[in-house]
Amino acid sequence: MKVAFLGLGAIGEPMASHLAHEPFDLRVWNRTPAKAAAFAEKNSVHSASTAREAVGDADVVITCLPSSKEVEALLNGDEGIEAGIKDGALFIDCTSGDPETSRRIAARLAAKSVTFIDAPVSGGVKGAVAGTLTVMCGGSEEDIDRARPVLEAFGKKIIRCGNTGAGDAVKAMNQALLAIHIWSAGEALAALAKLGVDTRIALDVINGSSGRSNSSENLFTERVIGRQFPRTFKLALLDKDVGIAAGIAEQNGLELPFIELAAELFRQAHAELGEEADHVEAVKVIEERAGVRVS
Ligand code: NDP
Repeated sequence: MKVAFLGLGAIGEPMASHLAHEPFDLRVWNRTPAKAAAFAEKNSVHSASTAREAVGDADVVITCLPSSKEVEALLNGDEGIEAGIKDGALFIDCTSGDPETSRRIAARLAAKSVTFIDAPVSGGVKGAVAGTLTVMCGGSEEDIDRARPVLEAFGKKIIRCGNTGAGDAVKAMNQALLAIHIWSAGEALAALAKLGVDTRIALDVINGSSGRSNSSENLFTERVIGRQFPRTFKLALLDKDVGIAAGIAEQNGLELPFIELAAELFRQAHAELGEEADHVEAVKVIEERAGVRVS
């Protein structure tokens, strides 16, 4: 089976490397060609010089780009992949996208008999390297079953969430919860630090109590207390994700104050810390405002 993988970023690269070690005929493309060339050399696969070339004869096309906007843009124009993708191909978008754009892309591709599923992932770079990602899919049962052999190369839990866009919607809400957990744990520890409580002890207590979360147990222990902020998942991307969640609320006339506030706080943190900051560094904004270090 010929598989094209477009987007060798922080998470796309380890996902694609699993495909390179399965019996797929893999070709890769990346906007910055040097990354694709390095990947191709390391994994003995073909590196295409354009996205159009990569998808040309592919049975399956996988995208892993920052947002649905970049995926949609890649379809357009004479050099766009929509014109190059072969009839009957399967298009799996692993971008954490937005449901509305995914439905629009699916409709466009359906006109060419190309099947689209949204299939964003969770589990971080660690999960991608281990091949244990959760993949949340939107599309028909039949289409997701068709994608399964490819998704199983990097995913452990592959779940159909509903029709097209449902994977994106679940992912956006998961990300809103992640953002809320990070921000609320940051505020709690900032308050305790201000009171003079040892935050290592406080975090240990919280992690043995009902206020704990994946963020407090893992991200805060490893990164905030350890004062190491490896750049595995950009704050800019979490800002985008929570924005998608807030957009879903707005489009559906829902009043969801926590999600709206999280979107606003992460928008501010992104503006303050810039494009390259990691998502956990948002805690630095809480520290700055509280005038205290939580570690
Ligand atoms: P990165 O920023 O590390 O990589 C983004 C990728 O998209 C790169 O290959 C980049 O190319 C490419 N790209 C950026 N802009 C364009 C464009 N205009 N046209 C074509 N290609 C473009 O992001 P991640 O790999 O971290 O994230 C990718 C997706 O996966 C996002 O939707 C993210 O939310 C999601 N995700 C990420 C996780 C993580 O832990 N990192 C976890 C779960 C989901 P170039 O190399 O040229 O910059």
